[in-house]
Amino acid sequence: MKIVAFDTQVSVMRKDDPTWKFALGASPIIEGHILRIATDDGLEGFGYASTTAHMGSLTGALDAELEHLKSSVLGRDADEIESILTGLDRAMRGAPQAKAAIDCALHELKAKRLGIPLCGLFGGKVRDRVPILRILAIKTPAEMAAQARKLVDAGYAYLKIKVHGDVAEDVARVAAIRAEVGEGVHLTIDANQSYTPKDAITALNAMAKHVIDLAEQPVPVEDFAGLALVTRNVPIVIEADEAAGSIHEIYRLVTERAVDAVSLKIPKLGGLRNTLAAARVCEAGEIKYRMGAAVGSRLLAAHGLHMACALPRVDYACELGEFARLMDDPFEGLEVKNGFLELPAGAGSGVRPIGAKA
Ligand SMILES: [Mg+2]
Repeated sequence: MKIVAFDTQVSVMRKDDPTWKFALGASPIIEGHILRIATDDGLEGFGYASTTAHMGSLTGALDAELEHLKSSVLGRDADEIESILTGLDRAMRGAPQAKAAIDCALHELKAKRLGIPLCGLFGGKVRDRVPILRILAIKTPAEMAAQARKLVDAGYAYLKIKVHGDVAEDVARVAAIRAEVGEGVHLTIDANQSYTPKDAITALNAMAKHVIDLAEQPVPVEDFAGLALVTRNVPIVIEADEAAGSIHEIYRLVTERAVDAVSLKIPKLGGLRNTLAAARVCEAGEIKYRMGAAVGSRLLAAHGLHMACALPRVDYACELGEFARLMDDPFEGLEVKNGFLELPAGAGSGVRPIGAKA
């Protein structure tokens, strides 16, 4: 089936809390590109290219990247996914977010042609639903505890506490949230690179008494030795996120056992195909993995959900429900229910542009 259309549209989604911030920035909106690829038999597949400055991707740059890659996609046989994706890597180094959108759209097209859910292309589902972790923005300990209470009351049993590198304040945040939600709720933290290794070791050992399941990217992305040092000196599972930006980086993290876990994200890894490969690398080294934050349209979350349902070793909540705090989503067909996302029915991703036929 010949690819006859490759259209992109910028998506701007407002946050319901315009003061939302984390250690690396603050913005009242989330931007991305919706990519639509259509074939001459009338099928269409969609992908989401994520604007995330801390992962190296900006809206204007995504425009240019998608435009540059378009000629490697238009006119091709949509079934030749591997050949097209290999061609993208030859056409341009990097650009994982743009390539991820193309990869996802091609896989969705193929799943639709076969009449199967997207996860059917990756071995089929090993589970029907995934517990969802929701993220708490950096605020005062009392404000974060209040937000934690709201989310727990809405059915969420997993929360991530964003922290920013001040040991005393961050420990106070964790203490306030644990005191508010009680013992039954799972807590993780994400420092987004904001600690020195020694401060991370101090902070995490102090937080451990409040029971933290996992701590994400404590130190700067470039500090590989520092990350390994933290992993060896705290009782909490250490997860790489920004430092796990490609299969090659994940390979090194795994072979040198610099972390206990890896956050898999379709945009930073360049698509579903690479995410599956990265998961297998983790499995080979007995390193944990799960699907990390997909902040953007339900379209992005749906792709992550299909991957999470196809990967055997996902053993912790995935961060695929942030769309619930965003407005103006151009896609529909996915809602978090009582803290879980269920695989949507139907062929492909199971989500569709607002107003399109289910
Ligand atoms: Mg993170």
